[in-house]
Amino acid sequence: MMVAVVGAGYGGLSLCWHLLQLGIGVTLFDAVGVGGGASGASTGLLHPYPAKLARRSPRADEAMEAAGELIAIAEHALGGPVASHSGIVRFAMNEEQTKAFQEPFSDAASLDEEAIRKRFPDVTATAGLWIPRGKTIFAGPYLKGLWLACEQRGAIFQGRRIENLEELNDFDGIVLASGADLERFHLPVNPRYGQALLCRWPNEMEKLPCSLIGYGHLSLTEDPDLCLLGSTYENEFDLKRALSLRDQIGSFYPPARTFEIIDVKRGIRMASKQGVLPIIQQIGPSRWVFTGLGSRGLLYHGLYGKELAQIIAQRS
Ligand SMILES: Cc1cc2nc3c(=O)[nH]c(=O)nc-3n(C[C@H](O)[C@H](O)[C@H](O)COP(=O)(O)OP(=O)(O)OC[C@H]3O[C@@H](n4cnc5c(N)ncnc54)[C@H](O)[C@@H]3O)c2cc1C
Repeated sequence: MMVAVVGAGYGGLSLCWHLLQLGIGVTLFDAVGVGGGASGASTGLLHPYPAKLARRSPRADEAMEAAGELIAIAEHALGGPVASHSGIVRFAMNEEQTKAFQEPFSDAASLDEEAIRKRFPDVTATAGLWIPRGKTIFAGPYLKGLWLACEQRGAIFQGRRIENLEELNDFDGIVLASGADLERFHLPVNPRYGQALLCRWPNEMEKLPCSLIGYGHLSLTEDPDLCLLGSTYENEFDLKRALSLRDQIGSFYPPARTFEIIDVKRGIRMASKQGVLPIIQQIGPSRWVFTGLGSRGLLYHGLYGKELAQIIAQRS
């Protein structure tokens, strides 16, 4: 059986890996290249508590486990790190968050002002949530490693844009994991434009031990001299808004205001209108779409890629 997967982002690559695991051949198509869409622009935060008030994401344990498996596979194929495993801290930006972050959590811990001062002396927040299982994925190396792993298992890559599904009639199955391009299928998803700043730490400054989330976030990258400040949620790309991220993050981590900007990264997240979970929808005989990863693509791409591969295998 041969399946065509359109889109080499987190969704398409996860699906590709899991199909190969089930003995199904895959040709992966991407108009731009591996990570050419939102995945390549993402700032890499992976943890179970992304909601404003840190409500645990549905299916968080399974999702973290499935993502962790893919990280290990990518690290093995690449022969080097594709993520920082040093945890993530969220800082409370208002009274509501201060209260919410003090709830008991099974795998996270509240931080009071003293603990914050000790570990993050430059941070101005007075309450926080420490998430030791949190990881920061380095998008470029991770996508590269995951693709290498798929290639080693026999996947084929074609760097071209698929305009019409009829072009793929020779395949036994087709999956569209093509991100923003899926708007034309009138699915229950909304496009959200996201931007992030790639910045250089000032030479003299001590680097942070982990990624920080407050009003916006600061993510570690594979280059210890660089970090990402993210990210915006808009209805269109807006450079002025992207450039304001330094001040926004400076509101809880003032050194960010002095960072040198190296690049602006951009991508479109497709968010489900039905909730936070991704969408797997059959759109014809042996044809599916895999979308709606929204701002939790890293949390859910492993789990939902695995489940879609199982659905395809069962129906073949
Ligand atoms: C600035 C930013 C920061 C983010 N930060 C985080 C974060 O910290 N944590 C997190 O979990 N998520 C984050 N996200 C969201 C995450 O990136 C997305 O959920 C995820 O990338 C979606 O993956 P995808 O595979 O569905 O789509 P995409 O990554 O967009 O992949 C779709 C691919 O399909 C290709 N394509 C499109 N049309 C065609 C066609 N017709 N033919 C061939 N190829 C085609 C594109 O070139 C692209 O490579 C962020 C997103 C942005 C933009």
